[in-house]
Amino acid sequence: MDGLPEQIAIAVQRLRAGELVAFPTETVYGLGADALSDAAVKRVFEVKGRPAHNPLIVHVSGEAMARRVAADWPEDARKLAARFWPGPLSIVVPKAQSVPAIVTGSGPNVAVRCPSHPLTLALLEAFGGPLVGPSANVSGLVSPTAAEHVREAFDERDVMVLDGGPCTGGIESTVVSVVGGRARVLRSGLIDAAVIGEVLGREVECADSGVISTTPTAATPAEAPGQMSSHYAPKAKAVMVDAGDVESVIGRATGECVVITHTKEEDAPTPLPPHSGRVGKTHVIRMPVDARGYARRLYAALREADAMHPELIVIVTPPDESKNPVWRAVRDRVKRATAGSAGE
Ligand code: AMP
Ligand code: MG
Repeated sequence: MDGLPEQIAIAVQRLRAGELVAFPTETVYGLGADALSDAAVKRVFEVKGRPAHNPLIVHVSGEAMARRVAADWPEDARKLAARFWPGPLSIVVPKAQSVPAIVTGSGPNVAVRCPSHPLTLALLEAFGGPLVGPSANVSGLVSPTAAEHVREAFDERDVMVLDGGPCTGGIESTVVSVVGGRARVLRSGLIDAAVIGEVLGREVECADSGVISTTPTAATPAEAPGQMSSHYAPKAKAVMVDAGDVESVIGRATGECVVITHTKEEDAPTPLPPHSGRVGKTHVIRMPVDARGYARRLYAALREADAMHPELIVIVTPPDESKNPVWRAVRDRVKRATAGSAGE
């Protein structure tokens, strides 16, 4: 196995040749390609099976690189980048001409983010230019939070994987638009609208509002692809159920069920086993009770559940966001994971 500097050198060569390199970030693994190469970005859409109207986040090594892909870098963007980068915040600004239309779903704006992972920052520096980085999964399915998740999804010949260990955040970045002097959160994440508002010194609108929006069409490109109703979905049928209803829901199933729950053992909806494990046809995955811990574990738990090929995955409704804003992002992802059949 080559050392990391060698891995980065190989990755840079492959990116320069228009190939794809998956990279670790603090949120999820990204599927990297040269953001300024039309052909390389096209390859990302092909390999992921991603609809063309779904724009990609452009990853940069810092504000200087961000300005290269932006036609305008408003004061709001400057403040947010200074406070949150490197970190899980994608900032939507007017795009520069050099950014191919395919990156933004033909829209006038581009989402940029500087990820907080030493390996990927080193990659961006060595490559010397911006990289698109949608989550490194087949479109519509669960995002990868470990290198092996990426290897399971794609052939090594199509996608080189830089292994940076498990992701510490676990869910995708907050996306905030500062276009036209408005500040709007388009996708919730670990960085909350209230904290963004504090930095900007004014209230921030929440366009995601926790409400499942309609699936966008090619004619109306998504403001944020993560807003699509069915996203982050396991392959098995999955439902979100209040703790008190779990027993009746699994009672109606004829086959095996996996229950994903954050409830404490003593509050466990009967007849669940007290620890992660199986009782009869029910397998329980116990989640961390804190919002950040839950977020970090969510996608791996969905994968484990899927690997058991159950008739049904039952996710106990996560706590209300009033307890902690990270729960808002968690609930958003669970709603989308349970919103219907997989795929976009
Ligand atoms: P994913 O690549 O799976 O993390 O999803 C991409 C996310 O990037 C979406 O949920 C959007 O919120 C966001 N995004 C990317 N490009 C744009 C853009 N030009 N305008 C608004 N949001 C964008
Ligand atoms: Mg994704």
